[in-house]
Amino acid sequence: MLEHYEDVLDEAHARASDWLRGLATRHVGAQATRAELSAQLAAPVPETPTDARHVIAELAAALEPGLTASAGPRYFGFVIGGGLPAAVGADWLATAWDQNTFSTISAPAMSVLEETVRTWLLDLLDLPSEAGMGLVTGGQAGNTTCLSAARHHVLDRVGWDVEADGLQGAPTLQVVVGDKRHRTIDRSLRHLGLGAPTHVVPADDEGRMRAEALADVLAGVHGPAIVCLQSGEVNTGAFDPFEDILAVVRSATPDAWVHVDGAIGLWARASSRRHLTEGIEGADSWSTDAHKWLNVPYDTGIAFTRHPTSHASALGMSHGASYLVIDEDARADAINWVPEASRRARALPVYAALRSLGRQGLADLVERCCDLATRAGEALADADGVEVLNDVVLNQVLIGFTDGGDERTSRIIRAVQEDGTCWLGGSTWEGRPVMRLSVSNWATTPDDIDASVAAILRCAAETD
Ligand SMILES: *Cc1c(COP(=O)(O)O)cnc(C)c1O
Repeated sequence: MLEHYEDVLDEAHARASDWLRGLATRHVGAQATRAELSAQLAAPVPETPTDARHVIAELAAALEPGLTASAGPRYFGFVIGGGLPAAVGADWLATAWDQNTFSTISAPAMSVLEETVRTWLLDLLDLPSEAGMGLVTGGQAGNTTCLSAARHHVLDRVGWDVEADGLQGAPTLQVVVGDKRHRTIDRSLRHLGLGAPTHVVPADDEGRMRAEALADVLAGVHGPAIVCLQSGEVNTGAFDPFEDILAVVRSATPDAWVHVDGAIGLWARASSRRHLTEGIEGADSWSTDAHKWLNVPYDTGIAFTRHPTSHASALGMSHGASYLVIDEDARADAINWVPEASRRARALPVYAALRSLGRQGLADLVERCCDLATRAGEALADADGVEVLNDVVLNQVLIGFTDGGDERTSRIIRAVQEDGTCWLGGSTWEGRPVMRLSVSNWATTPDDIDASVAAILRCAAETD
C-alpha cells in the first residue's frame, strides 16, 4: 500500500515546505491574473491517467503564482489567521487517517478527541461546562447551527414542533439584530426560513448595539424571539455591551434566546482582554471561528449552545432528540450537533493548536495580535493625512486618508497591494471607503508591523 503513497507525499511535503519557507518573504499578493491561471489550467478532460507524483508537482507549479501569502505574517486583509505548526501537522494526519467523524462507531478515537476539545474550549472560554458543541466549517455555519437551536427552543416553549411542522402556520418568531451585525447572520436567518430580521437596533459610533435602543425595541416584542449580539465587530473589533444588554433582554423578554456571533472576539475571553466579554456567559449560544484567531488551517468554526437538548433536537439525525440526554453513545455522535453528516476530523487541528499553545500561549497569541494592532494604529495616526477611525480595542484598525476623497483611498489600497510588502483590503465605515488592517497571525512580529506601516505611508505619499 505505502509504495503508492510515498512518492506523492514526498512531493507534497517538498512543495509545502518550499511554500512555508517563502511565506514571510514573498510578495504577499497573488502574482498571476485569472487569465494567466486559466491558460495553465483550463485544459480539456485528460483521457488517460497521469502519474500521481507528477500531478502534484504540476499542480503546485501551475497554481503557486496565483496563491496569496494569506497565512503569512504580513497579510492583514479580511480577518484571516495563519496555521500554527502543530495544527498544520495535525491536519495532515487528519487527511492521511481519513476518518469519517460523523459517529463514535465510524471514528471512535475522533469522537473521544472531540469531547476533550469541547471540555477544553468551554474551560478556556469560561462558558457553561454542560454546553453542547459542534465543530462546523466556519463562523457562518456556527451562526446557522446556533440559530437553528434557537429556532427550535423558542418555538418549543410555545408548544410548536418546528422540526415536525415547519414554519408554515407557526407562531411569529421575531428576530432582533444590531445595525452592525455581520452579514452572515442575515444569511443564516434566510437559510432557516426566518427571512429578514424583524428589528434592527441602532449602533453607537464603534458599531456596538445601544442597550437603551434595544430596550425601546423589545418593548414592542411579544412571543418567541431571538436576539443576536456580536463579540468583535468585523471593522472596529468592538464588543456589544453584554452585561447591559443581557439585563435588558432578561427583564423585557425573559424567554428570548440570545445568540452571540463571536467569530473574532470570543477569543478575547481567553486573554487579558476578557473584560471586553463580561456578561457574555449569560447568552444562550455563542459561535466562533477556529480558522481565524486560533490559527488552525481552513476550515473550522465552533457552535456552542447552553441548551444541549434544544441543540441536538434541532440538528440531530432523528426527530425528537430527548433520547440523547440519556444515551451517552448518541451524545457522542457528532452528527447530532452539526448540519453535516460525513465530515473530516476537525477536532484534530483544534486539539493540536490548543495542546501546543496551552492556556498561556492562547492568551499570548490574542494579546500579541492586539498589541501589534495598537502599534500599527499609533504609528499610522501619527502620520500626516492619515487617521485611525476606530478605538483599537482588539486586533482591528480602520484607516482613513484625509486628503483626495474616496477615490484616492481605493488607489492607495491598490498601490499597497501591488507593492507586496503587506496586503490590506478596503471596507466601508459610516458610508466612507476605508482601509482595514486585521492582525490575526501567530507569526506576525513588531518588525512586520513597522515594515508594513512604512509601506502604507510610502504608497500613500506616492498616490495623488
Ligand atoms: C468572519 C466572520 C463571520 C463568518 O465566518 P466564516 O468563518 O467566514 O464563515 C461571521 N461573523 C463575524 C463577526 C466574522 O468576522
